[in-house]
Amino acid sequence: MSVPTPAVHASGVTDATDTAQAPAPAAGADLCAACGRALLGDFCHGCGERRLRADEMTLRAFVRDMASEVADLDSRAYRSLRLLFTRPGLLTAEWIAGRRRAYLGPLKLLVIAFAVLLLASSLLDRRPTTDMVRRLDGSWIGRAIEGLAGRLKLSRVETLERLNDAALSHLSWLSVLVPVVLAGVLAVVFVRRRRGYVEHLVFAAHTSAFYFILGLTIRVQQPAADPLPEVLQRAITVLVVGVTWAYLWRAITRVYGDRGWRAGLRSAVVVIGLNLAQMVATLLAFCTAALSLLYL
Ligand SMILES: [Zn+2]
Repeated sequence: MSVPTPAVHASGVTDATDTAQAPAPAAGADLCAACGRALLGDFCHGCGERRLRADEMTLRAFVRDMASEVADLDSRAYRSLRLLFTRPGLLTAEWIAGRRRAYLGPLKLLVIAFAVLLLASSLLDRRPTTDMVRRLDGSWIGRAIEGLAGRLKLSRVETLERLNDAALSHLSWLSVLVPVVLAGVLAVVFVRRRRGYVEHLVFAAHTSAFYFILGLTIRVQQPAADPLPEVLQRAITVLVVGVTWAYLWRAITRVYGDRGWRAGLRSAVVVIGLNLAQMVATLLAFCTAALSLLYL
């Protein structure tokens, strides 16, 4: 069975060579400058290239285009971040529905959230290492640090400082594991829904972006010079877990269509999965940091 193809849908390559032989189309001509298809609006339906305008090469048009590009990225970033915090799950639902142009992509959002977190924690996380070494004394982590210090011929405080710095830089790429593991948890929790892994992955990316920025607020709560009392730190942890749970409850209701206690139960499992994924990434960061201190 052969389907008649309209001329405009013919192979773009042939079209392009055809137009390459023809004189270059003037600005505003009705052929795409990139692939040679006939143009209908301001953008090519074949490759997305924008139609050249008559004033294209003037400095004024150049500055105007740059400004609108920056403003567009800016407004998409602002809109995405606002919705990420005020409407749990909406970004995922929009992405699945195919309304994507108005927002930053899930990966971009995740990278931005993580960059902010990393920058802030490198500025904020300067708790006195002597205090930390004393607290770890006797635990298996304390013994591991002592062993590492012996091998490196450094004091335990110096070792922990180096380990912290290395782990923080390793955590930046290991944090990719958080959404990947979380998507696996979602795939198990919602196995009956027959959703693709990519849908879980996008949900996981949005949730992780929220979680990373929330994690930043915990760090801000703990001034380096004098740490908060134990009770208050516990209270903050409980609050953060509660907020994450409520957020996921709402997001799961919106994206997966669960209601009531089912959504509550499933979101509780996902909160545990999220924290486990974060712990795995952090532990791996410290392991690879220790290995790099020993062997690199
Ligand atoms: Zn084109």
